[in-house]
Amino acid sequence: MREFISKRRKEPLLLEGLSAAIKRLPSSLPVLEAKYAALKAGFGGEQQLDRVFENYLFPMNYQVLHDLALTSSTHFQIDTLFITPSYAVIFEVKNIAGELQVINNPPQLIRKLDNGEVKGFNSPITQVQSNCELLRDWFHARNVSLPIYGAVVLAYSKQRIDLFDTPIPFLYPNAVPTYIRHLPTESPLLDDAAFTRLTHDLIASHREFIPTPICSTYPIIRDKIITGVACPSCGFFGMTKYMKGWRCPACDGTSIDAHKQAIRDWFLLYGGKMMNKDCREFLHIERQQTANRILRGVDLYVEGANRNRSYTMNLRL
Ligand SMILES: [Zn+2]
Repeated sequence: MREFISKRRKEPLLLEGLSAAIKRLPSSLPVLEAKYAALKAGFGGEQQLDRVFENYLFPMNYQVLHDLALTSSTHFQIDTLFITPSYAVIFEVKNIAGELQVINNPPQLIRKLDNGEVKGFNSPITQVQSNCELLRDWFHARNVSLPIYGAVVLAYSKQRIDLFDTPIPFLYPNAVPTYIRHLPTESPLLDDAAFTRLTHDLIASHREFIPTPICSTYPIIRDKIITGVACPSCGFFGMTKYMKGWRCPACDGTSIDAHKQAIRDWFLLYGGKMMNKDCREFLHIERQQTANRILRGVDLYVEGANRNRSYTMNLRL
């Protein structure tokens, strides 16, 4: 069967980093938990729309690209792009709890919670319109002229929203197929080869957003992070190294490679370059040679020699 989803969504690195921080803090930090919950909801909302495209086959030639970060006049990020040889559609997904209201002047999304708390967000209409303009510029730079449509998707059909009259449609995920089927279909503006080239070009131009390390955004947690290798069986931090791997003092469980997650956590939390000393401190290893051996066994970029040797991680590998 042909594959219609040519770029799939992955968990955002920021969500992974926040999760590592929350697990490694002795007590909860409301600002961190709130950020995590909002991001998690956003990601969950985007997955709701992904499910529609997983389960629905459209009759035309098309491709779906999740989470596309491109640059034209400036950086922009598209939650889901639906593209055919005749047109492109940008879907901006919103999953925000509470009663929502979109106002026009100034453009804003206002959310009211049951407890009375009111918060303003960027208007999804402005976001969609701006993304359409930026994608148009991106196409223009490649001599492509395709009509671009934009829609806001509210992830859950329970979501209530108060809107003004706007040309940008607001849809629930299950209405997306009908919306697409009703778009004007003109004869294809791109031949098959040009369409394939355009899809490949979009994917190749995607630049992953690498978030600021969590401890740089929230410096107050830097000294509170619980170090050590986490036990995959019971979650205890501080497995001890023995010849073949790691042993958990709490449950006596063992693991060959539990250090890999700990090293990843370190890069998500602190970022930058890891030195042998950082590795020993974070993984609770005494010997320099042991740390060297461990670091060589992980897929890291190595720079320098001897005492100055440093390691960096491509978090997207
Ligand atoms: Zn354990």
